[in-house]
Amino acid sequence: MNTKILDATESNENVQIAADVIRAGGLVAFPTETVYGLGCDAFNAEAARKVYAAKGRPSDNPMIVHIARASDIGALTPQISTDFVRLADTFWPGPLTMVLRKKAEVPDVTTGGLSTVAVRLPDDPVALALIRAADCPVAAPSANLSGGPSPTKAEHVIRDLSGRVDVILTGFDSRIGIESTVLDLTSDIPTILRPGILANYQLAAILGREVIYDPALLAGRTLDGTPKAPGMKYEHYAPKAQMLVVAGEQDKVRAEIERLKGLNERLGSAVGVILFEERAYVEAAHDFYARLRALDGEGVDLILAGALNDTDSVGFAVMNRMLKSAGYKVVNV
Ligand code: AMP
Ligand code: MG
Repeated sequence: MNTKILDATESNENVQIAADVIRAGGLVAFPTETVYGLGCDAFNAEAARKVYAAKGRPSDNPMIVHIARASDIGALTPQISTDFVRLADTFWPGPLTMVLRKKAEVPDVTTGGLSTVAVRLPDDPVALALIRAADCPVAAPSANLSGGPSPTKAEHVIRDLSGRVDVILTGFDSRIGIESTVLDLTSDIPTILRPGILANYQLAAILGREVIYDPALLAGRTLDGTPKAPGMKYEHYAPKAQMLVVAGEQDKVRAEIERLKGLNERLGSAVGVILFEERAYVEAAHDFYARLRALDGEGVDLILAGALNDTDSVGFAVMNRMLKSAGYKVVNV
């Protein structure tokens, strides 16, 4: 397939061309403030199937449906609760995805066979212009090959998806750098299924009631490398290089990374290091995927990553990705 690469910041016409491709059942990668997405008409089952094929994504992994106006929600769900309205008013456009009961019109393939639909209104001018021009909800998982790091720059998408999609619409680098917080509003207690920049206490403050993290996320939090929560069998966000997380007090982590780096280099390995400043959580979120991709680009054999403090909510969200990237390989110092 011949992929058109169109710069959205150059002309509105490029956005219109991309929107026409979506309307015609094609695939368009586009920027958002969290990560780049690979989009199609959410109501077109055939197009949704092509998204899974282009990414090599298991078909039971649901997509997020992106809308450009909160009022477009009615076509997707009958569940327009007070909780939904409060959160949408406060956090949209932004990095919050809400899981709601789905209307029958939303194809099962879009939602990975679930009876619920995940919806988000992104905060990126190109994404919003594209969805508006397409005039339909746009289903989009991250615009990377399944299993690899998510894309936060146009060049990442071009590398992964050239020849596999109709259009790559290029825009700004993703301002946030990790995926949205996914909040399930179909359970009795609103439950975070995927951590992001927005934390449970921020959502709880708006709802006036408790918001919890899915217990599976907290089980995945253990740093001793042994227990793994169910559902973590799939490789996720993984670089090509081997990867090891080093956890503990900052000085000791730094020393252990130096030691392991020296040791492996003496054995002939090329070693890359990802070590963020203490408490630079937002910067870590912004840079993490790009660092993985840059080190893969350098062809390193081993990546040593310093764990972040996961009692901070953003640190926790980055650690959720870092541990998956490393296949939960952790040493504690
Ligand atoms: P991605 O952002 O590429 O990882 O893909 C979207 C993610 O959103 C999925 O992997 C799920 O974690 C989440 N998601 C999408 N739809 C639903 C849903 N109906 N219920 C629960 N989680 C969902
Ligand atoms: Mg993804």
